Amino acid sequence: MTLNLGRMGQLPSWLASPVFEGDEEKTYQAGLVNIIVLASIAFACAVMVSGALDGTMPFVTLIIDLVACLVMIQFLLWLRRGRVAWARLGLVIFGLVYLTAATASLGSICRPTAAIFTFWVLMVGVLFDLRGIVLGTVGASLAILGLIVAENAHWLVSPSQGSSVSDWVTYTALFAFTSGLTYYINQGTKRALMLAQTEVVQRQQTEIQLYATQNKLQGIINGLPDLLLEVSLDGVIHDYRSPCADLLATTPEAFLGKNLFEFLPREAAQRVIDAIQEAARSGLSSGTTFALEQPDGTRWFELSVSAKPGCDEQDQRFICLSRDTTMRRRAQNALLVSETRHRVLADNARDIVWSTSGSGLLSYVSPAVETVLGFTPDEVRQQTMEVMFAPTSFAVWLAYIQQLKADCSAGNPPESFRQEILCRCKDGSTVWTDVMAHPMFNDEGLVEIVGVSRDISEHKRLMQELEQAHDVAQAAKQALQSANEELSKIAITDPLTGVYNRRHFIKVADTQRAQVQRYLSTVSMLIFDIDHFKSINDNYGHPTGDRVLIEITQLVSSALRQGDVLARWGGEEFVVIMPQCDALEAMQLAEKLRALIAAHPFAEVRTVTVSLGVAEFKPCESLDEWFKRVDLALYAAKSSGRNMARLAA
Ligand code: GH3
Ligand code: MG
Ligand code: MG
Repeated sequence: MTLNLGRMGQLPSWLASPVFEGDEEKTYQAGLVNIIVLASIAFACAVMVSGALDGTMPFVTLIIDLVACLVMIQFLLWLRRGRVAWARLGLVIFGLVYLTAATASLGSICRPTAAIFTFWVLMVGVLFDLRGIVLGTVGASLAILGLIVAENAHWLVSPSQGSSVSDWVTYTALFAFTSGLTYYINQGTKRALMLAQTEVVQRQQTEIQLYATQNKLQGIINGLPDLLLEVSLDGVIHDYRSPCADLLATTPEAFLGKNLFEFLPREAAQRVIDAIQEAARSGLSSGTTFALEQPDGTRWFELSVSAKPGCDEQDQRFICLSRDTTMRRRAQNALLVSETRHRVLADNARDIVWSTSGSGLLSYVSPAVETVLGFTPDEVRQQTMEVMFAPTSFAVWLAYIQQLKADCSAGNPPESFRQEILCRCKDGSTVWTDVMAHPMFNDEGLVEIVGVSRDISEHKRLMQELEQAHDVAQAAKQALQSANEELSKIAITDPLTGVYNRRHFIKVADTQRAQVQRYLSTVSMLIFDIDHFKSINDNYGHPTGDRVLIEITQLVSSALRQGDVLARWGGEEFVVIMPQCDALEAMQLAEKLRALIAAHPFAEVRTVTVSLGVAEFKPCESLDEWFKRVDLALYAAKSSGRNMARLAA
């Protein structure tokens, strides 16, 4: 609230009261002094002017009024310099001196009319505000004027002495001054009332808010599952909240006025009392924990004690809020056991157990990393996966992380990681590890990835050796197969000429015999013997004889049909079996062979001839009988002069 004449009366700035920001009282007092001083100056000036005009005022009175005006101006100067107290005090002291001196200078104090009408003006001003002030001033001025006129005209019953115009002006000025002062006080009172009313409304609103907050807090407190007690310093219970009754196995009413020791075990009660005394001593809230044995096991509580505000110092009260932390404590214990178990497993595992947030930095690495890679766990935790893994392996890991994030965003179930990863060691070498990692999620997303890395370098080395051993075994197996094949071949072939041997030929012949007997087809056999071979050996040597044997088998082989089988019967005798071939066709082949050999220019011996015996198999005969017949045919060819073929009978 700022009160000054400038605002109230719309006065020019040089007449307005000074304003002191932040000090309403001083401003108000300055305004009051200002208006009184201005009115006093106006009053003195009016009196001086009127007195000088009608000549009734003593000279000394004029001097006093003039001095009064000058002193008032000094008061105005003090006001503008902030010396409000000086101006107030000066106004009171000087006012009294001035009025006394002025009254005395008039030579008479018999003017009761002034007091009566001044009171009337004051009353009208208070009752009718601005209109009353104007009306009161004008009305009183006119009434005084009338009385002066009446007195001077001797219309009054007992006129005292003649009143002048200066008296009328003096009265009128006094009334105006009283009216102005009344108006100013009215305005100040109105403003004070308005301010008081505003404050009352604000206080009511604050009280409503306070009440709502109190209700809300009460609701919150009622909804708390906590044990709530109001206790004095000695542990006596003065108030409670119902849940504690269930806990302490008694009726709520039984609490009031009783001591905590009656409801709590000695140790728990002592802890609570200690916490209360601590809160009383420090003036701050204190806390403690205590346990209660319940049918379902030990239950743990965390107690918070604070002094109840607004209590008498002789009767201090404390609010004890106790929260049941049994479940939290059990969960913490279980978590501790679980973490210890996993920590012991991880710390003693030969494999490297690790975890990462996925950002690339490892949050945990087990001590086995030092055995495998040479780095201490602390050294590894300062490295990124990119440094730890060889480039190709890091690319594999990065692809997995990106896939994991994509799955996460798409809402797909995340997959575990299983790959062989090449790790860098501290000494610059590398180690192959088998890495198995599993991502862990909560409501907010990926928490971390937990992994196990197993050193598989020894496994890899063994696998390599195994592969090499496998290759050696494969080679040995192939060699064995070749040897077996060779053996099989040796078993059925003649080592000198490479054609089948006698034993195999007998098998083939027996098979053909069975075929013929079963399907009624034909098969023929021929046998040929080199003529005078003995003399070749004798004349050219045994090795030359061998070469002749080889050359003849090559010649014959090239002339045979597919399906015909050539074999060495023994010495320089050879046999050929010809499936699907009757005696006539066999004779044609025998003749063809004979001519071929006879015409062939052998390297050293030039000409070689053979004698041949031919026999078609007869379904009714045995193998021996067939052999015998063909042998007889050969014998016939020999007997007939050699270099010819004979058909068996
Ligand atoms: P013939 O016209 O009556 O058949 O007269 P031949 O000289 O051929 O008489 P014979 O069949 O009895 O002689 C076979 C000879 O063949 C006897 C033996 O020294 C020779 N001989 C047998 N096997 C081999 C061999 O593997 N290499 C060599 N060089 N000679 C062999
Ligand atoms: Mg012979
Ligand atoms: Mg011979």
